[in-house]
Amino acid sequence: MNDVASRFAAKVFNLATMKQRLPKDTYREMLRCIGDGERLNLDVANIVANAMKDWAIEQGATHFTHWFQPMTGITAEKHDSFISPNGNAGGSAPSGIIMEFSGKELVRGESDASSFPSGGLRSTFEARGYTAWDPTSYAFVKDGVLYIPTAFCSYGGEALDMKTPLLRSMEAIDRQARRVLKLFGHDNVKSITTVGAEQEYFLIDQSIMDQREDLLLTGRTLLGAKPPKGQELDDHYFGVIKPRVQAFMRELNDELWQLGILAKTEHNEAAPAQHELAPIFTTTNIAVDHNQLTMELMQKIAHRHGMVCLLHEKPFAGVNGSGKHNNWSIATSDGVNLLDPGTTPFENAQFLLFLCAVIQAVDDYQDLLRISVATAGNDHRLGGSEAPPAIMSMFLGDELTEVLEAIENDAAYGGRDRVQMKIGVHVLPRFPKDSTDRNRTSPFAFTGNKFEFRSPGSSLSMAKPNIVINTAVAESLRKFADVLEGADDFTGALHDLIRDTIKAHKRILFNGNGYDESWRIEAERRGLMNLKTTPDALSHLLDKKNVELFETHGVFSAAELRSRYEILLQNYVKVIHIEAETLLDMVNRDILPAVSAFSAKLCRNAEAKTAVTGVACGYEKARCREISRLTDEIYAVSSTLGEAIHHAGAGEDSLERAMRYKNDVVGAMGALRAACDAAEAMTPKAEWPYPSYTDILFSVK
Ligand code: ADP
Ligand code: MG
Repeated sequence: MNDVASRFAAKVFNLATMKQRLPKDTYREMLRCIGDGERLNLDVANIVANAMKDWAIEQGATHFTHWFQPMTGITAEKHDSFISPNGNAGGSAPSGIIMEFSGKELVRGESDASSFPSGGLRSTFEARGYTAWDPTSYAFVKDGVLYIPTAFCSYGGEALDMKTPLLRSMEAIDRQARRVLKLFGHDNVKSITTVGAEQEYFLIDQSIMDQREDLLLTGRTLLGAKPPKGQELDDHYFGVIKPRVQAFMRELNDELWQLGILAKTEHNEAAPAQHELAPIFTTTNIAVDHNQLTMELMQKIAHRHGMVCLLHEKPFAGVNGSGKHNNWSIATSDGVNLLDPGTTPFENAQFLLFLCAVIQAVDDYQDLLRISVATAGNDHRLGGSEAPPAIMSMFLGDELTEVLEAIENDAAYGGRDRVQMKIGVHVLPRFPKDSTDRNRTSPFAFTGNKFEFRSPGSSLSMAKPNIVINTAVAESLRKFADVLEGADDFTGALHDLIRDTIKAHKRILFNGNGYDESWRIEAERRGLMNLKTTPDALSHLLDKKNVELFETHGVFSAAELRSRYEILLQNYVKVIHIEAETLLDMVNRDILPAVSAFSAKLCRNAEAKTAVTGVACGYEKARCREISRLTDEIYAVSSTLGEAIHHAGAGEDSLERAMRYKNDVVGAMGALRAACDAAEAMTPKAEWPYPSYTDILFSVK
């Protein structure tokens, strides 16, 4: 693939393509549309649509689609062909077709929204939903279809998707950041948030997958005895990549590159069969679209290689689950990273102010950050000593923490020549950015010039955490700008503001081991929230301060937020419900018959052997007793689970229902699994109905 450079973004209608294909003034209009959010008039849209269509046809496209991200968290598409009948005036049969695509079709689409979750926002009789072109994310061709990234909203203009609030949150943070940047003398710059999403995933053999009902229906194993070997030897992490996986990665990279996705790093992760792909960061909106495409292509390409890509947060008990680290920063349109400590006192002051904005945001909206990553699947990861705990805290590293402490206490700071840090007067020391300064246990870690939010699970739409981060930081910046814009002595006010923010929010800073039980106790003492499960977290979504935050910045109306609350709770309930029903189905139809047959066989064997030989037959009898006992237990707990499901689903209140699923159904599933796993451990392979963990985790050779 020595032509990577020429193939890169070959399937993307990006600025370079537009420059080549659009008349000069149309191209200029497009730049204004993309850069400043100005609307295209219909004449211009027609020209763009036509050029886009011609280009797409050259790439092999016959159809176009408005590609959107409904609240299911995945993407949706409906294909329309470019064909239009030619010469059928008067109702006669067409003599042929022409390929057509109008500005109107590019800019806006209408689709039946009734089967997408709306959380009560749209009654079924108002089934219409609209898709609106998002020109900031480029159109692309994939599988013979021109994909046009769009936002999706109801007839009344309410957001029914992930992209609309994300774009709104980017505008919100830009609005406030500009006010702050202006105070530092940057008059005509825009701010842009950037994201790089590190994606973890598992690859297993397709034939093994097909034998597991739980993996097929829920994406994770609902039972499975611990294998003799997991990740104890640390021999997978960064290990040699197997040829089959390598072939998959090569094809994946090639397809991602053609779509302009900056796939950069790939390696084996901690658990057997686990891998990671990290792209180079880009603008948030594009990073989110790209991550959706990455997840889709991973699954599609794995199939071509006889494998399945599992994106579930916790496919296997006992080894690590998969996360998706959200690296986040904010930069100016001139390309200056505002979370990069500067080289002059003034730049340093600006850096510290933006840093404080993030610190305040994470502390004030711990609950929203936790909610933004809350899914039934991710509940298995957070707090399991493999991913950060459910308690939100920030890691800044020793150096930066010392600087902040010095500012807070007006104390001297520095290595050799200790100086009293005066904001706007002194230069900060350069912080070493070496990788030893990492804290894998921290949910929100500063890594030199960006923050890494480590809580998101592998299947999450990255729109969710970024909507919260952007809006919460926008709120800090709004408050900061309010104070500073009114100040007579800017440097003095800035110094006080930074010091006061550190004082008020230092409880959120924690450099220690987040996995340790002592941190849970310490966090409680500090008054930090510990929202262990999805329902616990969601019970705070509609808290007054949260509704106010989103309303103030125009990111969600109260009605939109309520609809998300309903959808998230319903989704939690549905996921657990499907898992519980799947487990019951496996137990009733496969496991109980298998263990019953095996114990009966042992019993018959023991009787027959004793009769013939007079030997006691200890193995057969003991095993038979033990398995019979487990069979009864499995049977009893499966009834308990059945009843729990029945009771949990009753009633109208979504939160109460979710709480019952969490407390009763999840609990019974755990007990049922434990009994099944104990039985599996003493049942011959040939008698057990499913491939074992060893079969699955080491299936790709
Ligand atoms: P680290 O060594 O901290 O893991 P990497 O350079 O490997 O850093 O980056 C990890 C991820 O963070 C990559 O996806 C990278 O593109 C992304 N990243 C780097 N800088 C930024 C930034 N300024 N904003 C957002 N993401 C970033
Ligand atoms: Mg990282």
